[in-house]
Amino acid sequence: MANYYTDIPELKFHLNNPMMERICELKERNYRDKEEFDYAPQDYADAIDSYDKVLEITGEITGDVIAPNAEGVDAEGPHCANGRVEYASGTKQNLDAMVKAGLNGMTMPRRFGGLNFPITPYTMCAEIVAAADAGFGNIWSLQDCIETLYEFGNEDQHSRFIPRICAGETMSMDLTEPDAGSDLQSVMLKATYDEANNCWRLNGVKRFITNGDADLHLVLARSEEGTRDGRGLSMFIYDKRDGGVNVRRIENKLGIHGSPTCELVYKNAKAELCGDRKLGLIKYVMALMNGARLGIAAQSVGLSQAAYNEGLAYAKERKQFGKAIIDFPAVYDMLSIMKAKLDAGRALLYQTARYVDIYKALDDIARERKLTPEERKEQKLYAKLADSFTPLAKGMNSEYANQNAYDSIQIHGGSGFMLEYACQRIYRDARITSIYEGTTQLQTVAAIRYVTNGAYLATIRGFEAEACAPELEGLKARLKEMTDKFEASINRVKEAQNQEYQDFVARRLMEMAADCIMGHLLIQDATKAPELFSKSAHVYVNYVAAEVEKHNSFIQSVSPADLVNYK
Ligand SMILES: Cc1cc2nc3c(=O)[nH]c(=O)nc-3n(C[C@H](O)[C@H](O)[C@H](O)COP(=O)(O)OP(=O)(O)OC[C@H]3O[C@@H](n4cnc5c(N)ncnc54)[C@H](O)[C@@H]3O)c2cc1C
Repeated sequence: MANYYTDIPELKFHLNNPMMERICELKERNYRDKEEFDYAPQDYADAIDSYDKVLEITGEITGDVIAPNAEGVDAEGPHCANGRVEYASGTKQNLDAMVKAGLNGMTMPRRFGGLNFPITPYTMCAEIVAAADAGFGNIWSLQDCIETLYEFGNEDQHSRFIPRICAGETMSMDLTEPDAGSDLQSVMLKATYDEANNCWRLNGVKRFITNGDADLHLVLARSEEGTRDGRGLSMFIYDKRDGGVNVRRIENKLGIHGSPTCELVYKNAKAELCGDRKLGLIKYVMALMNGARLGIAAQSVGLSQAAYNEGLAYAKERKQFGKAIIDFPAVYDMLSIMKAKLDAGRALLYQTARYVDIYKALDDIARERKLTPEERKEQKLYAKLADSFTPLAKGMNSEYANQNAYDSIQIHGGSGFMLEYACQRIYRDARITSIYEGTTQLQTVAAIRYVTNGAYLATIRGFEAEACAPELEGLKARLKEMTDKFEASINRVKEAQNQEYQDFVARRLMEMAADCIMGHLLIQDATKAPELFSKSAHVYVNYVAAEVEKHNSFIQSVSPADLVNYK
């Protein structure tokens, strides 16, 4: 049977990144849990070993249970009856296997029953699960909503809710409404305080809620009467045990069939406030969505891997004109670019996850004691890096997942269009990744400020100063030329001083930044492990050099006056 972790040596490479030592030290508070929990790591080597073991178990369950169930779940899907969701039978088996292996509430402290995993190895588990079944990946990885409850809930809420998630109960994030999609400021689900019962009551409708019949929901609702913007919104915890929320219907979708997408009706549902009033969107949902965006980036990388695996296997096996189709340049060109996008996107994903790990661990320590000035500086640096990298990781990986799934079908020829080949499911499943948790256009809105304030450029120039293997110097020089073009494009947009023009070319600017960043990350990886990444580094830099050239040429030749032709 396949093991979705040990079969992919690139994952172990990322697990052993040198930044992990600092991450473990912070997350484990210098390994103090070893006195209290016999399964807590003694030191760094022990921590990495324990992540490795858990990843191996996840890879095994994924290969033995989740992957074999994927086609059945896709065909059967969940059902809705009497306001409740019934998962497909394969989904139930998958959940059962994950819960029995203790793979829930993974990032939560041990005192609540969690594994105290950093975000990085947890994200690897999410990638692995999504590679086998992206729809199931949604249900399982919504456990990371608990991070937000841990971050902003109080001690009493921690002790009542976190152990339940660690024991296997599921979560959902209820944000979207019919008139509030990308623009969450328009959320209107009403929260009113019930003085008699000393609790909040929720009334209204939510739409497109993944796993909408979950045990615990984080809900964005309007608590401030008479307001219409984000400042009137608060975040609430709804516990299914209290009742009051029914599933009106499950959506009939193009892909991720195993994942129930629900329309929810709230009728006087009892709820409790999480954190402070009015900070629901501005602070808590932003944190929730940043975590979820990393999750979708992981799902996308998993799908990219799956698409590549299917394409590669088929290309080796299928013969035309007397030889395996993988020997045709047109086919190995497609496959090599798929692999390069996969390796580049994964490098970006785990770089982002490591940034998130450091600042979140320091945030958590700050709840126990005052940070030293050096720690505060470190926290600020990594929070900013995480913030700037997250939209790139989500935006680029979701687009790459779609492109890889498309090419995987192309490699399969007519067979790829037939339902018996997995590549069509991967193609359908990948399509949503660039839409939910903020469309690629909204990732661009989040990323553009780091283009214009020079943050990406400074990061890329910093990468240029890092040493690389002598045989990769040529690639690095090409990346420097690309970065010069990126800088020329930024200057042109700044000089134009036209907001609409900036918005118009923003996606191109974001992609240029991401292309340069991923190129550098791959060169660094290829320096350390040429056997794994050298080919992809070459293929990727060739690929993105042409992309950056194209975008720069567009920006240099299209001016604000040309916008009239596009409307
Ligand atoms: C399968 C599925 C599962 C989902 N799961 C959840 C969930 O669990 N919880 C939840 O709360 N929501 C969930 N959603 C909702 C999802 O997050 C939204 O669908 C998504 O954010 C887009 O909102 P919308 O559909 O209203 O599209 P719209 O906001 O109407 O967007 C339509 C188009 O306009 C573009 N656009 C909009 N605003 C801008 C702008 N400012 N600049 C540039 N372009 C813009 C968009 O990029 C898009 O191309 C899910 C959706 C689906 C389909």
